[in-house]
Amino acid sequence: MKAIAVRPGTPNSVHLADLPKPSVDDVPRGRGVLVRVLKVGVDATDREINDALYGNAPQGFDFLVIGHECFGIVEEVGDSVRKVKPGDYVTCTVRRPGSSVYDSIGRSDITSEETYYERGINLRHGYLTEYFVDDEEFIVQIPVGLKHLHVLAEPMSCAAKAVEQAFLAQRRLQVWEPRRAWVTGSGQIGLLATLILRLRGMEVFTLARGRKPNLKAEIAEGFGATYVSTSDTSLTELAETQGKPDLIIEATGSSAIAFAAMEVLGHNGCIVWTSITGGQNRVDVPGDHVNLNWVLGNKLLVGSVNANFRHFELGIADLALGEVTFPGVTERILTTPVEGLDNYEEMMRCLVEDKTALKVFVNVAED
Ligand code: BGC
Ligand code: ZN
Repeated sequence: MKAIAVRPGTPNSVHLADLPKPSVDDVPRGRGVLVRVLKVGVDATDREINDALYGNAPQGFDFLVIGHECFGIVEEVGDSVRKVKPGDYVTCTVRRPGSSVYDSIGRSDITSEETYYERGINLRHGYLTEYFVDDEEFIVQIPVGLKHLHVLAEPMSCAAKAVEQAFLAQRRLQVWEPRRAWVTGSGQIGLLATLILRLRGMEVFTLARGRKPNLKAEIAEGFGATYVSTSDTSLTELAETQGKPDLIIEATGSSAIAFAAMEVLGHNGCIVWTSITGGQNRVDVPGDHVNLNWVLGNKLLVGSVNANFRHFELGIADLALGEVTFPGVTERILTTPVEGLDNYEEMMRCLVEDKTALKVFVNVAED
């Protein structure tokens, strides 16, 4: 069975690997679900793994199969599986439990251990292959009416968790009714967060570098948000003219913007950081000013990574609501298909070089 893999630690080592086909019986107690992979999305994480910034092979392997955003069809299930049946469209969560108390209650997304196990990212093979098998606990059904949004289920789950975390954490305030939200970054997480916040009825400003006209601006506006190019309007100017935001979802991939966002948040506001910044950049911060304002304004910063089964369900529900509220907009994120696992070089080229590619995904097999 073909798989797209890297040799962790060796930059630009993406290659085609060979794996035996898994079987439902690889998972004990009849809980296995064998999935035929149809599509797999790739993102900045796959790019940074191929740059050898992070990522480790599973024990006993010198390669790591990448790809953590999957969409497939159930081929076979073990005797005790009740959740899905052959023919169902599914995706699968990314993180697998370690041994902290959070892992033991199904919350590996908030494990307290430094080592985390993630399919396609760290210590577990990913989905860029022909078949995979997993415990039914990690399999998430995708309604047939959403199959055109396929690989967006995973990034949507991360966006759904980020927004959920803000609301949960803000219960500290007894009453919190955010009206104005900013989303910094207009990659897939930024745009999907824009969708979620618009579905909650907020006035949303989506901020990114590129000037209009561009596809990202069209998608953000298609969701009813205001797109702001930071090449023309700084965060401070926007806060002065439109008011400070109650909520900022930060998804630029730039730690400089993550810190700059702290200078414009409104009183009682909340920032959620979602960017994975694998580099070594340093940032200059007006420490006294930020510290003073954060204390006087009772502000909150939350980091959010990954997503568990429940966040996938929340995200899928919002994808469905998005389809009836803003028909045809979300699918415009899916810009760049690559045909087949054999085209792994083209996949990486699109991911690294193609500036018009908002979302690269591999068509692994026909439905
Ligand atoms: C994935 C998450 C993962 C994170 C950290 C992201 O690209 O979508 O599921 O937890 O990287 O590895
Ligand atoms: Zn990802």
